[in-house]
Amino acid sequence: MKQKLDFSLLKTLTQLPGVSGREQAVRTYLQHHLAVNADEVKIDALGNLIVTRKGTSKRAILLCAHMDEVGLMVNHIDERGFLRFITVGGIDPRTLLAQRVRVQTKTGELPGIIGTKPAHITTEADRAKAIPVKELFIDLGLPVEQVRSQVSVGDVAVLDRPYLEFGNGLVSAKSLDNRVGVFILAELLRTLKKPKHTIYAVFSTQEEVGLRGATTAAYGLNADVCLTLDTTGAADIPGVLPQDYIVQLGHGVGVTALDARTITPTPLLEHLISCCKSHHIPFQIRVAPRGGTDAGAVHLSKTGIPSCSLSIPTRNIHSNVEVLSKDDVCAMFDLVHNFVNESLPGEEKI
Ligand SMILES: [Zn+2]
Repeated sequence: MKQKLDFSLLKTLTQLPGVSGREQAVRTYLQHHLAVNADEVKIDALGNLIVTRKGTSKRAILLCAHMDEVGLMVNHIDERGFLRFITVGGIDPRTLLAQRVRVQTKTGELPGIIGTKPAHITTEADRAKAIPVKELFIDLGLPVEQVRSQVSVGDVAVLDRPYLEFGNGLVSAKSLDNRVGVFILAELLRTLKKPKHTIYAVFSTQEEVGLRGATTAAYGLNADVCLTLDTTGAADIPGVLPQDYIVQLGHGVGVTALDARTITPTPLLEHLISCCKSHHIPFQIRVAPRGGTDAGAVHLSKTGIPSCSLSIPTRNIHSNVEVLSKDDVCAMFDLVHNFVNESLPGEEKI
C-alpha cells in the first residue's frame, strides 16, 4: 500500500442516505468534496455525477462507482400511522426484522423501527417461517396526524447502523455496497497528479435497480476502456463449500473473469492481472454466475467498451451489517491507481 487512504471519508459516505433514484445527498457531498480537483464536473439527466480529469494521451478511461444503495419505499400509511413499504433493490426480508431505519421525508429524516410480533404471541410454526415484506411495518412512534403531515407515499427509507471498525482490519456498515467504490474513486481523484489518460469518473445512479445510470453515462462519454469499482458477495462463511465462496475477505481485490452480465475480454483481464503481479497487489479472480455491476451496461454501450468489474469482497451484502476488509480496499485502490498511470493495452488488443 503506497498511498494512505482516509477511511474517515468512507465512514461519512456510509452514513449518507442514497436509495436508488434518491442519491442527492451523496451526490451533493461528492460535488463539494471533489470540485477542487476536477477539470469538469457535470450532472446528467439521470443524476450521474461525472468528473473529468484531462490526460495527455489520446485515450480515455471510464471509472464507474454507483452511489445508490438498496433501501425501502413507503407504499401505504395505515390508519394508526404505521408505514408499509416495498424494497428498492434486492433485500432479503429476513434481514429486515427488528432493524432501525431512517425515513427520508420532505421535512427531514424520521427514525423508525421495523417491528414484529413478540415471541409471546406467536407459535413455533410462525417463528420458523420468514416474514414477507408485505407483513412488515415501520413504527415511527408518532400520532397518525403527524405521520400523515410529514410522510408521503413514495418517501424512501435507509437501513440504519453506525459504521464500525472491528476485528482484524474489518469494517461493517450499511451501504458499503457501494460507498466503498465511491470512496476509492474519490480518493483516486484526490491523490491523482496530472493523469496520463483522460479519466471520466462516473458516480452513477440506480445501479441496484438495473444499471440505469451507467447506461446513459457511458452513452454520453467516449471511453476506450472501463473499470467498475463495486462490491461482490463473499460467501466465505460457515456452511458454504469453498468452491461456492466466490471471493474471500482479505484475499485481495476481486478481478472479474465472468459475472451474470459480463465476460471480461482476455487482453484486459490479462493486463489487470499482470498489473497486480508487477506491483505485488493481492488479487483473486472473481467468477460469479449470479449478479452483475455497471460494467454490464457500459460494455454494451455504443459499439462496445471493453470493461471489467473490480470487486471488494463483502459479507452480508445488501444488509445493514455488510462487512469488508480494509486490506482489500487498499488493494483495489492500488490496482486502479497503477492502471490509470500506465500504458493501456493496445486498442486492437483490448
Ligand atoms: Zn453494488
